[in-house]
Amino acid sequence: MTIQWADGHQSAYDFELLRWNCPCAECAGEMGIPGKLATTSELSDEQIDLDQIEAVGLFGVRPYWKDGHSTGIYGLSFLRAICPCDECAAVRAAR
Ligand SMILES: [Zn+2]
Ligand SMILES: [Zn+2]
Repeated sequence: MTIQWADGHQSAYDFELLRWNCPCAECAGEMGIPGKLATTSELSDEQIDLDQIEAVGLFGVRPYWKDGHSTGIYGLSFLRAICPCDECAAVRAAR
C-alpha cells in the first residue's frame, strides 16, 4: 500500500508491517492491558493478506484482513508515524 502525502512525501507499507501495527484494542491493547500482538511472534499468511481496504472519511483507512479481522482503523497521522522509509526511520531514531 502506497500513500502519497500532501507534502510530497511517499510512504510504501507492506501488509505485514501494517498488520503488526494494527492499532485496534485487541491487537495493540488498551489502558495498560497488552494486546495480542505483544505475545505474538509470527503471523499467519491469512493475517497478513488483505481482502480489501476501505477509506474512513478523511481520517484514515480500515483494512479487511483475510483472517476476518477488520477492527483496526489506521489514522493518517499514525500511518505517517510508522512510515518505513529510511528518511522517517532516521527521524524516529534521532528522537
Ligand atoms: Zn487488530
Ligand atoms: Zn517516510
